[in-house]
Amino acid sequence: MKKVLCLIFFLLCMTGCEKEAFIETSVYKDEQKLITITYPITYMKKLDKAINKYIDSQKDDDTVDELNVDYSFNIVSNRYVNITLEVMKRKDNETFYDIKTFVFDKQKKDFLTINNLVSENSIKTIDQIVQKKININTSYDEVTFDENNLYFYFNSGHGIEKVSVPTIDTEFLLDLNLEKEPIVQYQENYKEHIIDPAKPVVALTFDDGPSKYTDDILDILDENDINATFFVIGNKVKYYAKTINKSIANGNEIGNHTYNHKSLSNLKLDEMLMQINMTQDIIFSETGYTPIYLRPSYGNTNSLLKEKTPLEIILWNVDPEDWKYKNSKVIANRVISKTKDESIILLHDTKKRTRDALKIIIPKLKEKGFQFVTISELKEIQMLRAKMGLDS
Ligand code: ZN
Repeated sequence: MKKVLCLIFFLLCMTGCEKEAFIETSVYKDEQKLITITYPITYMKKLDKAINKYIDSQKDDDTVDELNVDYSFNIVSNRYVNITLEVMKRKDNETFYDIKTFVFDKQKKDFLTINNLVSENSIKTIDQIVQKKININTSYDEVTFDENNLYFYFNSGHGIEKVSVPTIDTEFLLDLNLEKEPIVQYQENYKEHIIDPAKPVVALTFDDGPSKYTDDILDILDENDINATFFVIGNKVKYYAKTINKSIANGNEIGNHTYNHKSLSNLKLDEMLMQINMTQDIIFSETGYTPIYLRPSYGNTNSLLKEKTPLEIILWNVDPEDWKYKNSKVIANRVISKTKDESIILLHDTKKRTRDALKIIIPKLKEKGFQFVTISELKEIQMLRAKMGLDS
């Protein structure tokens, strides 16, 4: 009987069990180097292997000061996976760019090239459109598409240029039978937490998300009837819109953690503001919510950022280094032993061990009398305490 069940399960998996893709962000920081890599894990072996191979080749360069890999990920007609990986490298104050695209047919389990997407005749038309917009002699190796356009990517040396060509202007070869799931926007739900200013408060904050662990973390917070603040990375907001909407609906606060986690202090003012504003815009368009706090990636700030940011900068004062310590008990102990009244704790909702550590941290801090607050609530309490002469 067991064997039969296993066989049925196996057959079901062969036909319909598809693991859902997710977006992974890995952040590394030391004295010499800043690395942030955001990329999709698709559970399509051939595709993941190619993505990893490309990322490894970028990481191989040991001489860079900052490496940033950003992604876009789009599945058309539930069948064609379109991925771009956009690379920025900084070396001795010079910036270098690279772009790599992957178009993968889930059904055929193989990559598609421009020749699979359009007829040979169309290449001439594409040539005309592209040359009008950008004067670079180039190949069309780096291509993606969606329901309406083909997108071609070129490295101009100063950055990546993207040119769109309407599919309607070409002899497009794929048959796109469209299905799309609408995203539900949740209503903001202010939970009335009664906070006693005479008792200690603590703010849990989560950076670098959302990720596949964020939903679990939201559930843990909800079960404990507490809220936290999530500083999200803009380039993942669209993919995890459902999660962020759930987070808001549960009463959590959302903050801005830049668009693709570049070190803001290394950017010119317009790029700096773009990192902040693009994130504000995408959060608003996916949720109707407008963050008021910024946590700069790597915690890096400078006078230009402090002067020009439209958002209030929030750093932290307790860092258990959950990206470094691999054990959830160690992380939990580091948080519990360092937390004081008004602590802002830096965690990452991209780690399973952090999710597990929360199950220890929350009850222990509650036991010690701490009240959990969002950053906005922390600010309110601090103001109230100042008025009441309660501040230390
Ligand atoms: Zn970060």
